[in-house]
Amino acid sequence: TAKHTGKRTVFYDDTQDENSLLRLQLVKDLKDAISNDHLDLHFQPKINLVNQSVSSVEALLRWEHPEHGMVPPGRIIPMAEQTGVIQQLTRWVLARALRQLSDWRRDGIDIGVAVNLSAYDLRDTTLPEVVHGLLTETGTHPEQLTLEVTESAMMSDLNNAAQLLSRIKEMGVSIAIDDFGTGFSSLSYLKKLPVKELKIDKSFVINMGHDENDAMIVHSTIDLAHNLGLTVVAEGVESRKVLEQLQSQGCDLVQGFHVCKPLPAVKLGGWLREMSHR
Ligand code: C2E
Ligand code: CA
Ligand code: CA
Ligand code: CA
Repeated sequence: TAKHTGKRTVFYDDTQDENSLLRLQLVKDLKDAISNDHLDLHFQPKINLVNQSVSSVEALLRWEHPEHGMVPPGRIIPMAEQTGVIQQLTRWVLARALRQLSDWRRDGIDIGVAVNLSAYDLRDTTLPEVVHGLLTETGTHPEQLTLEVTESAMMSDLNNAAQLLSRIKEMGVSIAIDDFGTGFSSLSYLKKLPVKELKIDKSFVINMGHDENDAMIVHSTIDLAHNLGLTVVAEGVESRKVLEQLQSQGCDLVQGFHVCKPLPAVKLGGWLREMSHR
C-alpha cells in the first residue's frame, strides 16, 4: 500500500500489495532501473575512534522512482530476492561502488568501500569471479573492499557461505558480519567464518545512552570481538553521548547520523576533504 503525501508516494514495508499490479509494475521498473543505470548509491563513512580518520565508506542503495519517489532498500532488496533480480542488482552495486573508488582515487581521495550482500548472493558461486573481475577492471586493491553479510544470511547455509566467503577472503577482500546480535544466538559459528569485522546492530547502539542493558550488550560485544581478534564497528550512533561511551569502551569504528549521514558521492567527497584538513 502507498500513502500519498502531496506529490510523493511513501511506501510502507508491508506485503499487502504482494501480488498487486503495482508490485508487478515496480519489479519491471526495478529491472529497467538496473539496466539503464537509474539507481544510485549513497555512502556513509566508518570513522576510526582512535585517530578520527576515515578509511572506508559503506555503499547504500538508493532508488528514486519517477512516480513514487524514494523506494527504501528495505523494500527493494526483498523484491529483488523474490524475483531473481538480486544477482544483477548486487553486480550493479559492486560495479558502481568500485567505479566510485577509482573516481575518488583520481581526485586524490584514497579510501575503501563496503558493499552489502544479500543471503541469495551467498549461494551465487560465480560471485568470487565477479568480484575479482571488477577489482581488476577498476584497478582496486582487494584490501579496499569489504563485503557485509548479516548473521542470518550466513546461518541459512553456513557451510556453503563459509566456503564462498573463504574464496573471496583469499583474494584479500574483507568480510564483515552485519547486524550482529540480531540473528543466531550461538557464537561458535564465528570461528568457522573468515570474518575480519563485526558490526553491532544499531538497535543496541541507538539507545545505549539511556538503556543500561543495551549499553552492557554493546560493551560485551566489543570485548568479544576484540578477544576474537576482530575489528568492531558500532552503527546507529545518533548522539555525542553514545559516541563518547563507545570511545571509552574501546570501540574501533563508528557509523551514524551524529557523525555523518549517508551522502551522495559528490557530497561525501567534500566531507572527506574537509575531514582531512581538520
Ligand atoms: P544496513 O546494512 O544495516 O545499513 C545501515 C542502515 O542504517 C542504512 O539504512 C543507513 O542509512 C541507516 N543508518 C545509518 N546511520 C544511522 C543512524 O545513526 N541511525 C539510524 N536510525 N539509521 C542509520 P538504509 O540505507 O535504509 O538501508 C537499510 C538496509 O538495506 C541496510 O541495512 C541493508 O541491509 C540493506 N541495503 C542497503 N543497500 C543495500 C545493497 O546495496 N545491497 C543489499 N543487499 N542490501 C542493501
Ligand atoms: Ca551494512
Ligand atoms: Ca547493519
Ligand atoms: Ca540492518
